[in-house]
Amino acid sequence: MSKSGIFSKCGICGKRMYLLDFPWTLADGKICNNCAKKVGLHLGDQLNYIASLYTLAEIKALIINGKQVSPNKPNQLAAEKEREKAYQALVVKVHSHNPINRSGVLFDNKDKKIFNAKSPDGSYIYESYESLVSYQPIERKAVINGHGVGRALVGGLLAGGVGAIVGAATKENNYNAVQWLSVVMNFKDGKTRQIVFVNQVVRTGDPAFISAFQFYKKLCAQLDQVIQENKNEQVKLQPQIDPADELAKFKKLADDGIITQQEFEAKKKQLLGL
Ligand SMILES: [Zn+2]
Repeated sequence: MSKSGIFSKCGICGKRMYLLDFPWTLADGKICNNCAKKVGLHLGDQLNYIASLYTLAEIKALIINGKQVSPNKPNQLAAEKEREKAYQALVVKVHSHNPINRSGVLFDNKDKKIFNAKSPDGSYIYESYESLVSYQPIERKAVINGHGVGRALVGGLLAGGVGAIVGAATKENNYNAVQWLSVVMNFKDGKTRQIVFVNQVVRTGDPAFISAFQFYKKLCAQLDQVIQENKNEQVKLQPQIDPADELAKFKKLADDGIITQQEFEAKKKQLLGL
């Protein structure tokens, strides 16, 4: 017995589907009833609209995780759209402040914010300068032999200050290549973001590495500046003590007999830095 009608293939299992099989129409393809059932799409239910909001990739993910389609999908999409709108507005705002761009890390001096665009997982960085606690450079050294084949250096991971890396890159002779160079920024709330400059073996003399290393140093310098300004800001916030006022207070305490003359003399020396 042969089936009639136009056929298409299930976007998930690849099974041939004819018109009378009533395939489900997703946002970007069609799937068979068998695959649809696995995620809770049953014939007769009013789920055509819900199904049309899902992509093949999303349905595949649901099947893999043993989950069902959500009747709440329309609301989720609306919320996602709102979040995307807010993100795009943020991108426009940050760029309108003529930020300093260091390898895609934007330093918005107007709002004192650090911005780094969405990564494939959808997360992005929009943190205040003062929330930048530290940063961690990561360099993994490698050796390229005479045949041009690179190998990672065991124990070649170097993580320290920028100075340490500059020193290592110029003084040590046991490596001639780098296979990884990145900077991890650490923020107060525990958030981190890694900016990668080198992710494959490249000779340290290669123009590509030299260029990447320049970009890397520029980002580090900018991060240093923000961290230094944070420190200066903290010093400013500490209450300023006027030694003369302070001394007058202790003089009165001594005169009133609350502290001894010796204690007063000790305090005086301390306050005047004698
Ligand atoms: Zn199928």
